[in-house]
Amino acid sequence: MTSRLDSALRALARVKARLVHRSDAADRTVRSCAGCAAHCCKVGFNSMLLHRIEAEALRRRLHEPDLAPLIPLIYGRASEQMTEHGLLHDRRASYTCPLLSDEGRCLVHGVAQPMGCLTFSPVDDGGCDHDLALFEEHLPGILAADREGYGRESEPLSIPVALERVLRPGRPDRGRRAGRAGGRPRARSRRKGGSGRG
Ligand code: SF4
Ligand code: SF4
Repeated sequence: MTSRLDSALRALARVKARLVHRSDAADRTVRSCAGCAAHCCKVGFNSMLLHRIEAEALRRRLHEPDLAPLIPLIYGRASEQMTEHGLLHDRRASYTCPLLSDEGRCLVHGVAQPMGCLTFSPVDDGGCDHDLALFEEHLPGILAADREGYGRESEPLSIPVALERVLRPGRPDRGRRAGRAGGRPRARSRRKGGSGRG
C-alpha cells in the first residue's frame, strides 16, 4: 500500500527532477563545478536550509547501498557541525555540509539534493549565485509535498540539524522526526543558504 509519505516523496522527486536537469546542464555549459573546491558547501559560505520532506528524501537516499556505509561518518559530522556552530540556536549560522565528500563533491547529487543547492550554481559573470526566481518558482511544489506527507508545511532546518534527527541511532521512526521545514532565501545572495540559502 502506498503511504502518503511515499506519494509526497514521489511528488518531491518530480519537482526536483527538472532542477537536477538544469543544474547538470549549467554545469556543462556555463562553468563547471568539477574543478572547484566546493567553497559554497563549506563554513563561511554555506548556510543551507531544507524542508522536512527534503530531510526524509535525504534519509532514504543515504540508506541506499552505496551510501549506507557512510551513515555513521555523516551522522558524526552532522553532530560536530551542530555543536561547533550552534545550529540549534542559530539556524542561519554557517557550517560545512556533512554531505560533502573528501573529494569536494556532493554525495547526494540528484533529486535528494536540497532545492537550495540545486538552484545555486556558477553564473555567466564568473561567480556563483543563487537563482531566487527559480527557487521561488519551485518552492510551492516543495511545500505541497510537505503538506501531503505531514499534513502541514514546516519550518526549514539546517542540513546538519536535519541529518542528526533523521539519522540518530535508535530512533523508532526516524523519518517522522525529520524536523519542521519551510522557508525561502532572503534575497539573491552569493552566500549559499535559504530553504534554501540565507
Ligand atoms: S556552485 Fe560555485 S562554489 Fe559551488 S561547487 Fe560550483 S563552482 Fe564551486
Ligand atoms: S547537500 Fe550537497 S550541494 Fe548541498 S551543501 Fe551539502 S554537499 Fe553541498
